[in-house]
Amino acid sequence: MDLSIVIPLINEAESLPELTAWIEKVMQENHYTYEVIFVDDGSTDNSWDVIEQLRAKNSNIKGIKFQRNYGKSAGLNEAFRASSGDVVITMDADLQDSPDEIPELRRMIIEDGYDLVSGWKKKRYDNTLTKNIPSKFFNAVTRKVSKIKLHDFNCGLKAYRSRVVKGIEVYGEMHRYIPVLAKWAGFRKIGEKEVEHRARKYGKSKFGWRRFVNGFLDLLSITFVGKFAKRPMHFFGLWGSLFFLLGLGISIYLIVMKILDSSFALTNRPGFYLALTTIIIGMQLFLAGFIGELISRNAPGRNHYLIETKAGL
Ligand code: UDP
Ligand code: MG
Repeated sequence: MDLSIVIPLINEAESLPELTAWIEKVMQENHYTYEVIFVDDGSTDNSWDVIEQLRAKNSNIKGIKFQRNYGKSAGLNEAFRASSGDVVITMDADLQDSPDEIPELRRMIIEDGYDLVSGWKKKRYDNTLTKNIPSKFFNAVTRKVSKIKLHDFNCGLKAYRSRVVKGIEVYGEMHRYIPVLAKWAGFRKIGEKEVEHRARKYGKSKFGWRRFVNGFLDLLSITFVGKFAKRPMHFFGLWGSLFFLLGLGISIYLIVMKILDSSFALTNRPGFYLALTTIIIGMQLFLAGFIGELISRNAPGRNHYLIETKAGL
């Protein structure tokens, strides 16, 4: 199969028929074999009925309906597991992304050899204050941390080589960082393509200002997890030891002073409190490291590696 088109959605009933007709048109013009996978992420409108109706008319249309709202990441992850196309395209259901971009995105994967191509909404039709400006900041930080040269990490329109979506796990709200997840899984050829962006035609945006708080916290965890998930002691142990040794050093100094001069007022010294706190912090960091080691020892993914090829086995 040439293409799997993955569309996570919640309460987008009005957009679905138009979006589907547009995708079908592009697929037919290019003679692709394809599937469209809609993931209904706990809609409370009649989105699922609409999907069923569309399915009745075109057997390339498939659907997954969640019992409740689990979030966009969960939707993408499930559809990735279910997809069978050589190239997987993700797009939003709200008609902000144009299906006309699909052929070129696919060409970049197949001919130019990209593992992942991210859309870049260079000209954006969203609210400037609540979206466009914070998003610039968000992208700059992510670029810095991940060293991936993308302008628009969170664009819903992306194309993937099948191996990529099968090799990564998107959880929590990590859909904002799929290029980062892909890079860590060893997929290096990550490119971008300017895409046409349109104003939302029906319904309203499903993400509020909280996206930036959550997005930033996720960036911290993703950086940390990416570096230290398999070896937490290397982080906590280092800082724990440093704090502990600092506290120990101050304590020894205080004790020596006390031995030399019995009138030395130990508990009046700032160093005394500093030693106390740094020793406690050091021990706590160390303990966090131990617990982290125990957790990562038992993590199901501890020996999960993506094998590119095997020879003679
Ligand atoms: N979406 C989803 N689950 C959620 C929130 C959003 O599947 O919990 C879908 C939504 O229906 C849309 C896409 O994710 O297809 C992008 O959402 P939206 O257009 O609201 O985001 P924005 O364009 O405002 O960033
Ligand atoms: Mg949108």
